[in-house]
Formats: sequence, structure tokens, C-alpha cells
Amino acid sequence: MTRDVAGALAQDWDILVIGGGITGAGILLEASRRGLRALLVEQRDFAWGTSSRSSKLVHGGLRYLKEGQFALTRESVHERESLLREAAGLVEPQSFAFGDYDGRKPGRHAFLLGLAIYDRMAGQRGRHYYDKHEFLQMAPHIRTDGLRGGICYQDAKTDDARLVMRVLQEARGHGGVALNYVAAEGLLGGSGSAGSAGRVRGARLRCGVSGAVHEVRARLTINATGAWADRLRSQAARLRPLRGSHLVLPAWRLPLAQAVSLMHPHDGRPVFAFPWEGVTVVGTTDVDHPTDLQREAAITQEETDYLMAALHDQFPALELGEDDVLASYAGVRPVIDTGKADPSKEARDHVLWLEDGMLTVTGGKLTTFRAIALDVLAKAAPLLPAWQADVAPRPIFAPSPALDYRLRLPPGQALRLQGRYGAQAAALVAAARPGELEVIPGTQTLWAQLRWAARHEAVQRLDDLLLRRSRLGIQLRQGGAAQLPRVRAICQQELGWNDERWAAEETAYLALCKAHYSLPKARA
Ligand SMILES: Cc1cc2nc3c(=O)[nH]c(=O)nc-3n(C[C@H](O)[C@H](O)[C@H](O)COP(=O)(O)OP(=O)(O)OC[C@H]3O[C@@H](n4cnc5c(N)ncnc54)[C@H](O)[C@@H]3O)c2cc1C
Repeated sequence: MTRDVAGALAQDWDILVIGGGITGAGILLEASRRGLRALLVEQRDFAWGTSSRSSKLVHGGLRYLKEGQFALTRESVHERESLLREAAGLVEPQSFAFGDYDGRKPGRHAFLLGLAIYDRMAGQRGRHYYDKHEFLQMAPHIRTDGLRGGICYQDAKTDDARLVMRVLQEARGHGGVALNYVAAEGLLGGSGSAGSAGRVRGARLRCGVSGAVHEVRARLTINATGAWADRLRSQAARLRPLRGSHLVLPAWRLPLAQAVSLMHPHDGRPVFAFPWEGVTVVGTTDVDHPTDLQREAAITQEETDYLMAALHDQFPALELGEDDVLASYAGVRPVIDTGKADPSKEARDHVLWLEDGMLTVTGGKLTTFRAIALDVLAKAAPLLPAWQADVAPRPIFAPSPALDYRLRLPPGQALRLQGRYGAQAAALVAAARPGELEVIPGTQTLWAQLRWAARHEAVQRLDDLLLRRSRLGIQLRQGGAAQLPRVRAICQQELGWNDERWAAEETAYLALCKAHYSLPKARA
């Protein structure tokens, strides 16, 4: 992928999207495929914000159902089903097991009632109640005292950062332009400015690589900066950033036949553990995040204790300890601040605000990115005269040809690569050198994916490669330090970095992993 920053920033656009998470990427795709000239800019790396730090579930959201938000649940379930069909290999089914314990809420009947509605919305029957003996086959290692049986139900999971990359790739196929390391430093026009009736007419953008500043004009500016959204708005702040942190354990230490969802023994909040890309992810917390958003979020000791307490309660026989944890990661949710004492009670749906001619979109879920994008375009239509608004949903991704079975990829990899890279999957495989179609130990990533990313996926820093194009930084101990020599052998030349640059990148990357992706005790 060529990076013609100066060329892109020298033009005028129909739409300027600020923010390169899933929301911005979704808008770029849906706008570009409808003939709008659209530019997206991201201050750091694509998916650097919340969209690489979510719980990675593509789900209807049983909790919305509990709160009576049927329309939201129906929309999420519908989007989940579309993603399972149209992004197979990137979005995969995941079955969940929920133990029915004496006194645990919700009880068997309430849970099954919720799941019946959930299933009906999806037009399937994915739920089943098992007696204790059967359930222990489905969810081994769980606490047995007080266990009466358990419920299994269906949802889905993904690789969130790769989902963003796939959406951006599709958008580029329709002429959309996406630039990472380009920050919006301020708006052109807007409140207090002379002319254009105070309407926002674009933004002042700074390229983080060259340092150059450009004034880029657009007929419509969209603020899709998630938890950062208040910073670009001229009105009073409305967001309450909430942090959610996760632990990552080796699959052999917390082996799961399927995802296990549970109610935390301290406060009854839902917590889950699920198998993901060769490791087990445990999450999440939900606490206020008053820290500077420009610094990466990180798990605290209190949150670590909270998640470990959930594991000890649900999997006592495994005697899990902090030493078992490979990595941690934390993301920040933008929720609308209504001043509730319990952060978990704040609503999570997306909101749209039109202020000074700028559209701000924030909140929502990874799962519903297409629905959010279409909602944004419907609101944008009156602001773009002469554009024929057609906001009916279209297939999420263009169908891509299946990879040739004679490639002899490791099991499951053909579909996995196709889901992640679409029409480019065959070229990725063709670009692999001997031995690079093998899986990196402890993960499901192929070495060839690193070469491809270094060559084609706008990698500017080592953490782009290891935390978002691949996820080695959260799947391997110490950010995958032990694998760095081979990563270097494959990627240094592709990236065009000399030895000095590589050494500096490695030092910065390892320090980042220690400070933000490890456990607090390892940071001392
Ligand atoms: C802990 C946690 C767990 C979650 N789990 C799930 C889940 O399992 N399933 C699900 O569907 N949803 C989940 N979500 C919600 C989902 O992750 C978010 O809704 C989604 O990622 C938000 O995407 P976004 O693009 O709006 O924001 P972000 O991904 O945060 O993107 C905003 C981007 O804007 C950039 N930016 C900010 N300021 C500027 C600027 N001035 N110029 C240029 N760029 C700028 C930031 O760097 C950032 O990358 C979870 C959220 C959290 C926090």
C-alpha cells in the first residue's frame, strides 16, 4: 500500500473522517462504495484506540436484553449473523457455557427466557440446558460445588484490529483513502470563526511522520474519535471514559472447550473467559478512566485482583496465579455521562450529534459498525446536497475466491486468511518464503502474515506490526521478545529500516509492552 500523504492532503473531499477505529473505518467503507470521495485520518495507528482492545466478541448483547433494549439487541444479533456469513474466517461462531449454580443469578429459567428471545431474533436455536454431568463435559475445570447444570448458547468472536484492517481494505477498493499517523489538530471554521455561518469546513491535519501541517477542506467533517470525541467538539463535554481490562493466559493453563461466562462473585457483573487465537482471554472490568487518553490505558492491580478472583471462583482446581498471565490489555469505552454511581449502568448505544455542521458519532459496539455507519450517512445526506442517499445495507465485504486447497496450509488457515485478507489472501500466500506458512508457536498467526504486513499494511512502528497487524504482543510472554530475531529477519528489509532504526523500535516496543500490556507487578 503506497502512502501518498501529501497527495491526499492537498485535495478537497466530500467527507473527512477523523478517527481510524472500527467506526471511522465503517463510515469510510459505506461512504466510498456510495460514490463519495472520502478521506480518513488516524492520529496514531489504525485501530490503536478501543478497536484493538475490545473483548473481541461479535454479540447481540444479552445485557441489553436484560435492560429491555430489544431494538438494540435485534440490530446487534442481525449484524452478528451478517458478519458470520460474510466475514467467515474473521468472524467465527463461539459457543458459551454458563453454569447454573445454587443461588446464582440469573437463574436457569430467566436465562433461558432471555436466550429464547435472542435465538428468535437470529432465527435459530442455539441454546440448550445440560444436567450437571453433561455440563462438566462441556465446561471442564469449573467449580462443581453448588452446580446444578448449565446452559450453552451461541455468539461469535473476531480479531478486532484485523476487522478494522479488512474494512479499510474494502474501503480502499472503492476509492476511499485512509492514512495513519495523521492527527486532526483543529477544525477549519466552526463556532467563533468568521464566514460559512460558523460551519466546520474541514480540519488542520498534522502528519506524525513528516511533521507537515495541511489544511484539508471537506463538505462534511465526521468526528469518529470514540473516547476522544469531546476534544474536537466545541460544546460541553458529554462523555464518561470507562476502562475495561483483560488478562491473556496460555490455552494450556486455562484450557476451555468453549467460552465460559460467569457472574463475578463480588458484584454479580458478567465476566467471561474464551479461547481466542491460541490463547485464553479473560475480561472485563468496567471502571472510570480519568487518565490522559493520549497515554495507552493499562490494567491496574485492583483490576488484576478482580479478574483473578473471578478465575479462582470459577476454576478453583486450576490454581491459577498471576505468573500464569501472558499479557494484559485495556480499552476505553466512550459512554454518555448521566452521572450514574455504577459505571456499568451507563447505556452503551451509539449517539450522533450535529454541531456547527460537524457530525460526531461515538459509543456503540464493534458488532454494529455497519449499522452505525449507515445511521451516520442517513444523517449526513441532507448536508451533502446532490448526493443520492441510498443507505440500504449492502453485503459487508465483496465475496473473494476460495484459496486453492493444494497450497497445503495448516488446518483452518485457508478460511482464516480469506476472512482477514479477502481478495489479497492468495497474494499473501504467494509472497511467503520457505517456512513462512508455518504457525508462530503459541498463536495461530503465520510468519507470512508478518512479511505481508511489513510490505503492504502501512506499518510505521514496530508496535503497529506486533500489536495490531498481528497480535503477538498480547499472545506471547513479554510481547514476544523471544521471537524478535525471526521477526527481524523477515521484516526489517521489508520495512526499509536500518539496524539503528530496528534497535530503537525494539527498545521502544519492549518498553511499551512492559508499561501497558503486562501486569502491574512486572512494571516495577
Ligand atoms: C473493554 C471493552 C470491551 C469491549 N468489548 C466489545 C465486544 O466484545 N464486542 C463489541 O461489539 N464491542 C465491544 N466494545 C466496544 C467497541 O470496542 C467500541 O465500540 C469500538 O471499538 C469503538 O470504535 P471507535 O472507532 O468508535 O473508537 P476507537 O476504536 O477508539 O477509534 C477512535 C480513534 O480516533 C483516533 N483519534 C482520536 N483523536 C484523533 C484526532 N484528533 N485525529 C485523528 N485521530 C484521532 C484515536 O487514536 C482512535 O484510534 C468494547 C469496548 C471496550 C472498552
